[in-house]
Amino acid sequence: MEIVIVGAGPIGCYAGYLLAQSGHTVSIYDKKKEIGLPIQCTGILTSDFDKFSISLDSCLVNTIRRIETFSPDNIKIGIQQKDYIVCRKKFDTLIADTAARAGAKIFLNHSFIRKDGNSLVIVNHKNNNAEKKVHGDIIIAADGPLSPVGKAYGLFHSSRKYYYGIQAIVEGEFDKSVTKTYFGKNTCPGFFAWVVPESSTKARVGLYTTQNPKQHFDTFMSKNGFKAQEIQAGTIPIFNLHQRLKKDNCYVVGDASGYVKATTGGGIVPGMKQVQILVDCINNNKIFEKEILPLRKRMKLHLQISNIMKNFSDKDWNRLFCYVSQPKVKKVFEKYSRDNPIPLVINSLLKEPRLLYFVKYLF
Ligand SMILES: Cc1cc2nc3c(=O)[nH]c(=O)nc-3n(C[C@H](O)[C@H](O)[C@H](O)COP(=O)(O)OP(=O)(O)OC[C@H]3O[C@@H](n4cnc5c(N)ncnc54)[C@H](O)[C@@H]3O)c2cc1C
Repeated sequence: MEIVIVGAGPIGCYAGYLLAQSGHTVSIYDKKKEIGLPIQCTGILTSDFDKFSISLDSCLVNTIRRIETFSPDNIKIGIQQKDYIVCRKKFDTLIADTAARAGAKIFLNHSFIRKDGNSLVIVNHKNNNAEKKVHGDIIIAADGPLSPVGKAYGLFHSSRKYYYGIQAIVEGEFDKSVTKTYFGKNTCPGFFAWVVPESSTKARVGLYTTQNPKQHFDTFMSKNGFKAQEIQAGTIPIFNLHQRLKKDNCYVVGDASGYVKATTGGGIVPGMKQVQILVDCINNNKIFEKEILPLRKRMKLHLQISNIMKNFSDKDWNRLFCYVSQPKVKKVFEKYSRDNPIPLVINSLLKEPRLLYFVKYLF
């Protein structure tokens, strides 16, 4: 089949790789001049990434062994968890090169501008913005949080909401194996601030919020005495239960579909899992919206947890930290990956039923 993908981010290129490897003719279009730039990501991949069997050697910056979280009253919980920290420019290049080696053609400097009947109209910025029409048996919209292709196909739910993230590269002294996260209404309402080390002298420091990210970011930076060497910012779609994933011959994936963990803002692992399911559906004539249901259920639980967190007072955060810091609950957090919150939530509740106190925020 002829497959047209718009977006040469990691999710579009991973789809391109799997589909080209399956024998399809794949063209990937992206408006960017260069893969992976500008960087708008902390580059954390959970150890669930191992399941994709892609070597990170060319882009790995650091490996984290432990996460330390701090409540507003400075109650600390340390949890052993392995995370990879990658350079996003090199990571995106790795996935794009893998797609190209499998036979996908990648066209940079090419923007999707509109839909015309069954065709996509693409302009080539290297050729005086000349327009061309492209056709595909299947169209994949992997064109990021604002998804122009998704919009053109009526696959963009108007109620979509976003987190706005700001991050700085800073110098200082860091424990290279430990990521630190900070919770509380004053630090980062509804979410958390992070310090993710690249090395013992350099870290990625940032936060996401739905409102006033810059104000919270500036306060966090000055409170910790950090000076930005470089600033990065970006938008993260919040998973939306009304989002459809297919219409006519078009599918939406990755950030374009809002498949981002609402609890952490991580979109790479869920987007790649979504693509694996989509490619299996294309190759084996299965129904995507049915096969995606187990992953959708996980995304929904992330959303429900984040809706609970959004309404937390600082007192609630401190209370939660007291419950979770018990060794029996910490062990549950160490055992289950945060990519799949279902066993994590069920087992935590079994160990500490008082956690049910927070469910009130769902209603
Ligand atoms: C501050 C910040 C930190 C983050 N940290 C993490 C993290 O640590 N771990 C993690 O997993 N996720 C993180 N994320 C989220 C992660 O960056 C996204 O989930 C991921 O990039 C999604 O990949 P994608 O391929 O779906 O979309 P994108 O990477 O956004 O790629 C979409 C592509 O589509 C192209 N495009 C858009 N419009 C058009 C058009 N009209 N024509 C042609 N091409 C077009 C764009 O140029 C782009 O290359 C973070 C996000 C932010 C903002």
